[in-house]
Amino acid sequence: MEVPLAGLPSGVRIHEVGARDGLQNEKATVPTEVKAEFVHRLAAAGLSTIEATSFVHPAWVPQLADAAELVPLLADLASDPGMRLPVLVPNQRGLERALELGVREIAVFGSATESFAKANLNRTVDESLAMFEPVVARARAEGLRVRGYLSMCFGDPWEGPVPVGQVASVARRLHAMGCSELSLGDTIGVATPGHVVTLLDELTGSGVPVGELAVHFHDTYGQALSNTLAALGRGVTVVDASAGGLGGCPYAKSATGNLATEDLVWMLQGLGIRTGVDLVRLSATSAWMAEQLGRPSPSRTVRALTHREQ
Ligand code: MG
Repeated sequence: MEVPLAGLPSGVRIHEVGARDGLQNEKATVPTEVKAEFVHRLAAAGLSTIEATSFVHPAWVPQLADAAELVPLLADLASDPGMRLPVLVPNQRGLERALELGVREIAVFGSATESFAKANLNRTVDESLAMFEPVVARARAEGLRVRGYLSMCFGDPWEGPVPVGQVASVARRLHAMGCSELSLGDTIGVATPGHVVTLLDELTGSGVPVGELAVHFHDTYGQALSNTLAALGRGVTVVDASAGGLGGCPYAKSATGNLATEDLVWMLQGLGIRTGVDLVRLSATSAWMAEQLGRPSPSRTVRALTHREQ
């Protein structure tokens, strides 16, 4: 049943991360053809922004080592003007590989904290921003859209709670560099709604328009939907989610990582907020992918809708 709530947007664009953020954090490596089928099924279920893969060095993320083989298998989708298929690129080499394959949208992956920048990129925050600068400039010059991920926006496993001013400072630098969308990541899933609102207000108060912000919540402590609702109330209309809840969180030794797209769509549908997603079709896709991975989907909505199959 649809029952709207005042003060929320009429539509949300879901940035589907299952094929990239999800699969890169799964133990099993999925064959390229299965990934291609997965992305096609996600598109058929109505998702219009699907982060397809990552051009990081294969030694870092072996699960996505087939990026250059996968992208050509998505050419039919890429030719649809209504479809967005961003890929993650870590550096200039990654960008060149993506450009050669005709990719039209990229994302870079930054950190709000020094500890995670060191752990993930082996660089300081300043050094990582200096590495992204020519990547973003070249991508923009080629007419590409660039998303900037900012991880550890709420808590960091080494540093504890992260001050909102610190997050805003790194976010402003990514924005000034030319990232037209910033995805605020709660990488270890510790955020709660008041913290979300405080960070969003700090960012919009310091000049980053809310229309250029996305939220990326993890369900580690069961807070992802509460946090999403709080962000929607502040005008955010882009929400990251992972089909079937694919991808645990390697930094928070927990089975539950990414917010499941189905759980998000169930809430948005109930609120009468447009997403364009066919929930039954999407859940069937996630149940199918769970079979490929040999374990049930952690999404409660997928389980509820497909209980006979799992
Ligand atoms: Mg994630």
